[in-house]
Amino acid sequence: MAGLRVLVAASEVVGFAKTGGLADVAGALPAALARRGNSVSVVMPFYNSVRRSGVPIERTGIVLPVPMGDRVLACRVYRSHLPGTSVPVFLVEHAPYFERDDPKSGRGLYQEQVGGNKQDYGDNGARFVFFCRAVMELVPNLGFAPDIIHANDWQTGLIPVYLAETHRHNPGYQRIRSVFTIHNIAYQGSFPRELMNFTGLPGWLYNPGQLEHYGLNFLKAGIVFADAVTTVSPTYAREIQTGEFGYGMEGLLNNLHWKLSGIVNGCDYEHWNPARDLRIAAQYTPETVFEKKARCKADLQHRFHLPGKPAAPVLGVIARLVAQKGIDIILSAAQGFLDLGCQLVVLGDGDREYHDQLQALRDKNPDQVGIYLGFNETLAHVIEAGSDLFLMPSRYEPCGLNQMYSLKYGTPPVVRSTGGLADTVVNATEENLADRRATGFSFNDYTAGALYETVRWALTLYRDRPKDFKQIVTTAMVQDWSWDRSAEVYERLYRRVAGLS
Ligand code: ADP
Repeated sequence: MAGLRVLVAASEVVGFAKTGGLADVAGALPAALARRGNSVSVVMPFYNSVRRSGVPIERTGIVLPVPMGDRVLACRVYRSHLPGTSVPVFLVEHAPYFERDDPKSGRGLYQEQVGGNKQDYGDNGARFVFFCRAVMELVPNLGFAPDIIHANDWQTGLIPVYLAETHRHNPGYQRIRSVFTIHNIAYQGSFPRELMNFTGLPGWLYNPGQLEHYGLNFLKAGIVFADAVTTVSPTYAREIQTGEFGYGMEGLLNNLHWKLSGIVNGCDYEHWNPARDLRIAAQYTPETVFEKKARCKADLQHRFHLPGKPAAPVLGVIARLVAQKGIDIILSAAQGFLDLGCQLVVLGDGDREYHDQLQALRDKNPDQVGIYLGFNETLAHVIEAGSDLFLMPSRYEPCGLNQMYSLKYGTPPVVRSTGGLADTVVNATEENLADRRATGFSFNDYTAGALYETVRWALTLYRDRPKDFKQIVTTAMVQDWSWDRSAEVYERLYRRVAGLS
């Protein structure tokens, strides 16, 4: 079968710019698709962080005229490659929009620090109208005609609209089909109606059945106009069709369920593999985990200024510190964990109130609580390897990567049974233990009590039934959540959508 030609559009790509799981997907999926014989390119904005990342960047000589309202902006295009691959990454430059991220001054890809709080840039709408239009202009310059443009999250939500509405009859675009992936439905990109003037789209598309939802809603645009919509786990695909999880899109998604599916993200085992991970104190496999993990745990305790007690269970947390991640129930249950003799280690960055509360918890319990409030990839690896249990009690979780890393690192995750967490973690019930299927611990109710009880059950196995606990660890480590597996599913979807199957 001939390979597919795919252009992946995303606002962040790991190795170039990253704020969350989207970046991991946008880096790893194209690489996996290319390994399977497809010809894939990626396109993203050219932020400062891309320059700082140190990846080799070359000029392409392409200058795109990008219409924005009554002006036409020039957009230079640069090229790099996904590290270790020949997958091109096209970088769309427009300094006033994209060259502003700078962690030192508190400016990020989408937000800036204003006083104590992070705030979206006031022109995010214009920035990503520009990006979507630049991607459309780039298509004829790619050197190949894509079968599929795979757009991701609200920042790229207008691309399916241009393909379906304004460019449908243009040669070079006619055969292109679109796939739109929702990584997190809570972030929708809703902007005042006036932004329509920048889009160049016909005004009649602005109506409640198409682009309108509290303003011009980019995510809705992607959902309505894409040929297929995916989200990042089957359970999340079902959940977002309900009022509890749909953030206002549930009715629409329910009507369009025929084109909605869920594909669990892969996990990048190149970077997240304890057998080869040089960021951790000792490398290990399922055969050596029990002997080597102790060193990783000692290293973790040392780095977080905790007493090096081998017997104290370490609970690890890595998360954006936002309401989604269940930080409030972790904080409410924390004293209970400490009373059970645990140490708690938290790596995260986010809302001020959580920073303050975590700081207070640490100040009160310096011997049992370690925190790092900021982004630190090395520490993320150190925590995955050194903890005994990994806590991820999310309110909702489209897919989640950290629980998959925990599985691989033999650190059983304790998760709330939602979204991708429900699809990837097998709860340690007596039945699943007997069947040797269990890989972690899960609970349903979003309460501190349910989290606490689940951790207590996990500790019962950890302390009193070590054989069972060890079986969970080794079963977790041999699970395959690789990108190759997910890429195969995406490939089948692309073929169907492009009419090539
Ligand atoms: P989300 O995309 O919702 O933030 P995921 O679990 O899917 O959650 O992905 C989070 C990714 O970001 C993981 O790769 C995780 O290790 C990383 N991460 C999150 N916060 C931090 C942090 N403070 N420091 C380092 N890595 C982090």
